[in-house]
Amino acid sequence: MNVLSNVYPTAALREADARHHWHPFTDTAALNTEGARVIVSADGVWLTDSDGNRILDGMAGLWCTNIGHGCEEIAEAVYAQMKELGYYNTFFKTTHPPVIKLSELLSEITPPHINRVFFCSSGSEANDTIVRMVRTYWQIKGKPEKQTIIARHNGYHGSTVAGASLGGMGGMHAQGGLPIPGIHHIAQPYWYGEGGDLSPEEFGLWAARELERAIDALGEDKVAAFIAEPIQGAGGVIVPPDSYWPEVKRICSEREILFIADEVICGFGRLGTWFGSDYYGLKPDLMPIAKGLSSGYLPIGGVLMADHVSETLEQGGEFFHGYTYSGHPVCCAAAIANINILRSEGIVERVASDTGPYLQQKWLALGEHPLVGEARMVGMVGALELAPAKPDRTKRFEPVGDVGTLCRDISFKNGLVMRAVRDSMIVSPPLVITREEIDDFIERVTKTLDATLSELTKAGLM
Ligand code: PMP
Repeated sequence: MNVLSNVYPTAALREADARHHWHPFTDTAALNTEGARVIVSADGVWLTDSDGNRILDGMAGLWCTNIGHGCEEIAEAVYAQMKELGYYNTFFKTTHPPVIKLSELLSEITPPHINRVFFCSSGSEANDTIVRMVRTYWQIKGKPEKQTIIARHNGYHGSTVAGASLGGMGGMHAQGGLPIPGIHHIAQPYWYGEGGDLSPEEFGLWAARELERAIDALGEDKVAAFIAEPIQGAGGVIVPPDSYWPEVKRICSEREILFIADEVICGFGRLGTWFGSDYYGLKPDLMPIAKGLSSGYLPIGGVLMADHVSETLEQGGEFFHGYTYSGHPVCCAAAIANINILRSEGIVERVASDTGPYLQQKWLALGEHPLVGEARMVGMVGALELAPAKPDRTKRFEPVGDVGTLCRDISFKNGLVMRAVRDSMIVSPPLVITREEIDDFIERVTKTLDATLSELTKAGLM
């Protein structure tokens, strides 16, 4: 048990939290009327709160604890590294064994054309780095006008100024004067929500060709890159129709632009492949990574670079960019231990051929529930669209988001973390979840859907 929770009861912890802690992505005034949930320990797929309740972590923290909570090997690797070399930088002609070892390991698990990595501490920092890298790349190539980066509405690329600008979240843009200049957003491949009368295949082609139309409208000589998540996570686990990625690949191969696959969620096994790009057969020029790189045990992110990108940047002299914690030795040690466990325990392969298909089959069957308009899942990331009048995709609950929040709160009471995006319930459990735990997980989801339906029926909303 956590030391603080032994000393202070939950109410005292909540009160101190409300008084002194400003939470990320939170309406602080609203939170503090009820108080935050206090999580004190975790093991495998299970969280324990300060009242001793066990909660199944259906989101792997924030899509990151791929190898599950409480891993001794990581704790030991981190302790050993802290004693050996707790910190040193990688500026000024200096390096150290953990950063070298991790860089080498990453080149082994990434596609063959990717052999170098720049380190930072988060996905947001990785995407900030990428904005500067791609623009510098085209400057070195003698095409300084190629500055605009095309991204997608409802994409998520982080919370820093550049990351949030690349992202397509209206609420984020409205705070702080975003997006920065030179970012252009196109439609997302969200068939359930925006596909209209088109079939998924037709809509996937249409959405992909929005990229082509944007390149033509902006002028190919002005466009630096296209950035996209293989599957949009924070936007609501948007799985593109099968026609989408092949068409984007065709467009990128015909046009002189860089392609950036944001692997912050999809990387490190989430789709049953090492990277989302492997799942969809993409060949990115740059891949931002974070989260599953260390399974969230310590903050570390990076930018994986295709050979032609690093070779071009090499011709530009000094790249004036770096962070105090670029290649932090202890974070690297955590990431090395994490990757070694993913490899030695065959966790990615298990998601591809055993527990992944087992979970998908049960999750997709939830599409039959009267409250679920669509169930989708790839690997171990999925969504349920809650809908008032299935199969009609045009009908939504009003106001959007209230039913999602209700369902999320019921889920917590049932001992399961699911996240709500609009009125979709999304999940991304630790990749080590067992078949027995999957049965338990699905039981809790079903109970939650039934209870939500019953509340809505009582309120006359169904
Ligand atoms: N890119 C994607 C695809 C993400 O999902 C996230 C985080 N949810 C980020 C970037 C930003 O990562 P971080 O929160 O580590 O800055």
